[in-house]
Amino acid sequence: MNPWFAKAIILAASAVMIAIRAPHGQRSRKVKIVKNERGALETALLALAWLGFFVPLIWVATPVFSFAEYSLAPVPLLAGSVCLAFGLWVFYRSHADLGTNWSITLEVRDGHQLVTHGIYRHVRHPMYSALLLYSVGQAFVLPNWVAGPSYLVAFAVLVALRLGPEEKMMRQQFGSEYEAYASKTKRLVPVLW
Ligand code: SAH
Repeated sequence: MNPWFAKAIILAASAVMIAIRAPHGQRSRKVKIVKNERGALETALLALAWLGFFVPLIWVATPVFSFAEYSLAPVPLLAGSVCLAFGLWVFYRSHADLGTNWSITLEVRDGHQLVTHGIYRHVRHPMYSALLLYSVGQAFVLPNWVAGPSYLVAFAVLVALRLGPEEKMMRQQFGSEYEAYASKTKRLVPVLW
């Protein structure tokens, strides 16, 4: 199959992701930060995630990763597109439920509320589940051994190293309220994990 099918899907999915986040990012930025737990590790993880996100776009625009190309097949293209679409839907839902409590890093905002409703009833980190699903979709859709899994690898590292510190921060902030919430929910996959 022509790789431009994959390129069009990756471009469209990236545009939808940016369009979902942009208004929430703008609104959150207006709310004062009262606690910032962003250390050197968190800065490195964010840089890695941005790199992982941009590598597929570099693949779309330039031939730098052509040494790692393989041919595109319809089944992975379809399976990947379903993951991308479902991931974007969960991403949209989690932003809608988290509202101005959202931050790109580990922060507590003025008047921060613990969100336990909507999609947060099912898992504690739906936005990370969404982006993992999205990155799995990208790995399927994009026929390149470097650019395909780049976001998945980067984001999996971020999630693995951030979940502990993020939950610790939430426990410090919300105490028994967060304990009760955590005892009723899984981290990333409803019912399972
Ligand atoms: N880990 C969550 C949120 C990602 S945004 C998810 O995957 O959906 C990261 C910020 O969200 C953190 O800095 C924290 O301040 C905030 N946060 C995380 N869980 C929250 C919750 N249940 N309610 C309110 N804010 C939360």
